[in-house]
Amino acid sequence: MDVTAIVMTVLLVAGMGMFISLMLPRFRLLLAASPENRFGNLGARVGRALKFAFGQYRMPRDPVAGFAHIFLFFGFLVVALATVLHFVHAFAPTFHLPGQVGLVYALIKDIFELLVSLAAIYGIWRRLKPVPSRVGRSWEGVFVLFMILLLMITDFIVTGSELVVANATTGLPYMPAGHVAMLALAPLGADAAHIVGVVSWWIHCIAILVFLNFLPIGKHFHVITAIPNVFFSNLKSPGAIVKQDVEKLIEEEKPVGIRSAADLSWNMVLNTYSCTECGRCNMFCPTVVTDKPLSHRQLNLDLKHALYEVKDDILSGDAEKLANLPALVDGKISADTIWACTTCGSCEQECPVLIEQIPRIIGMRQYKAMMEGDISPELARAFEGMERNNNPWGLGFDQRDAWAKDLDIPRMADVAGEGKEAPLLYWVGCAGSFDDRIKKITIAMVEVLRAAGIEFAILGQEEGCTGDTARRAGNEYLFQTMAKTNIEMLNGYGVKKILTTCPHCFQTLKNDYREFDGNYEVIHHTQFIHDLLKSGKLKLNKEVKTQVAWHDSCYLGRYNDIYDAPRDVLNAVPGTSVIELERNKSRGVCCGAGGGRFWMEETIGERINVHRSKEVVATGADCVGSACPFCLTMLKDGVADLGNEEIKALDLVEIVAKAL
Ligand code: SF4
Ligand code: SF4
Repeated sequence: MDVTAIVMTVLLVAGMGMFISLMLPRFRLLLAASPENRFGNLGARVGRALKFAFGQYRMPRDPVAGFAHIFLFFGFLVVALATVLHFVHAFAPTFHLPGQVGLVYALIKDIFELLVSLAAIYGIWRRLKPVPSRVGRSWEGVFVLFMILLLMITDFIVTGSELVVANATTGLPYMPAGHVAMLALAPLGADAAHIVGVVSWWIHCIAILVFLNFLPIGKHFHVITAIPNVFFSNLKSPGAIVKQDVEKLIEEEKPVGIRSAADLSWNMVLNTYSCTECGRCNMFCPTVVTDKPLSHRQLNLDLKHALYEVKDDILSGDAEKLANLPALVDGKISADTIWACTTCGSCEQECPVLIEQIPRIIGMRQYKAMMEGDISPELARAFEGMERNNNPWGLGFDQRDAWAKDLDIPRMADVAGEGKEAPLLYWVGCAGSFDDRIKKITIAMVEVLRAAGIEFAILGQEEGCTGDTARRAGNEYLFQTMAKTNIEMLNGYGVKKILTTCPHCFQTLKNDYREFDGNYEVIHHTQFIHDLLKSGKLKLNKEVKTQVAWHDSCYLGRYNDIYDAPRDVLNAVPGTSVIELERNKSRGVCCGAGGGRFWMEETIGERINVHRSKEVVATGADCVGSACPFCLTMLKDGVADLGNEEIKALDLVEIVAKAL
């Protein structure tokens, strides 16, 4: 073995040894974390990895930075082979890819290396430019991009020096960058060019080993973990909460929710490893844009640091040590942080590596709400209302169907009593039953159903709260109690199809109840009316002259991908037109009501509903429209707070009912 081979062997053993010693504790932390089943449906998981990881699907949502990352990603895949060959050359200096294969690879590699170099220069500029971009001033990012640039440049020089030494005249078009390097090195002569080439080769190989060892200790860990993170990501509806047997846990006096870093599931740990710190999650987060102390990126970092700080205790497996680990909330993470989230899902929608924010926030809320009872008095009141009267308003449960007093609407119990098959169930929801303003939406829905000749029934006083607020605000026990009662009743009546006017009821009935044996065809009124118009069952003849600034509800849009149906319906109303808000559809900003926030005081930063309402006012529209009772309430208050009481706030079905 010659000296080069011996030195390279030492470097490789040291570099790989250090890499393994850095990776091992991180891997052991994954194994020590709490279990979570993310192994089912392998086909869908492979599809996700192909689409979101290898296909870089979300990157072009920010076109320039996105394509820069795509060049870096694919460039690295292409250059990986060249890197292996560089190490091989320490032991077999004359080894090259044979003939035409070698030339074609040289061309592809040169093109990608040029693209990677451009992307690295752009990335460095983004981090250093006077007005910071969403990635901020990350010195770690600058260092890594500089290393990447160094790798590309040294590779060009190695190729250029080889061409000078070989006095190459053929194959040059296959190595455009190498050819340029050759022209630059040629004046030095073959011997000097060779020395420059050898030095560059050593720098390249050492830089690779440094880069490799740098990966696990910072944000570039995502280079290793992002693909598995995407593979194991949530295949259910966004914001899906892990089903736990809460009753059993409480019976066995076991904790529910996340108290310390040891309570994070292995998938949550993998999430913390995979953040690229790109800041995409912050762009449309209602809490970030209104100066609240919650950002997906920061929470991810805080969790990672909290995890690393107690890693020895977690890895020891000592039950006493685990029980005494510092609490996350009111420790590394403030209580205001976890309660600020509206569960709008924007962060998860934007994240290129599919990191899940909502389950871990709800996990921390669960511990606070169920184990410590440490919740705000307003939220406690809402929970109490749900426990006693089956609605968060806490109004008498027997008032639930007061709105229907003179409307002669059949109850599901009557239909069942007559031995008939259950017709379409109109699930009115708590807002539609108890809130005076929202009751008008309920009545408009009934008018539309009758105009279209649809047979339907309601549950009347038997209808219960779906438990959405309880679940998103951390009271999983209350949610499960309500869900089980509702499901038992729905299944008892043989209900198959449910119509809702509330996206929160829609999401809960359609997606959450499935895990508790509640399987129904659930349809939101936006889609339902859309279908009625399409089939000709509903005709809109009267003109409703209005311009509607349309706000997408998060639980309808981001959670269930319903964007076109409401717009199509409004455009079908004579005299009505839709005006888009500046941030719309999947990039709309939440109204501030979701995740139980509707029931809590908002004392930090700008009020989210006011922030969103500014966009409504800016459109000059005479009406703000939505298809969610909570959005409607928030925006009605928001435009009024801005002194624009003349702007009407209407639900889609109210506009449709006016056109009948
Ligand atoms: S959580 Fe996702 S979107 Fe946010 S900074 Fe990390 S990688 Fe980027
Ligand atoms: S779910 Fe919405 S409010 Fe919560 S952190 Fe994500 S973007 Fe922000």
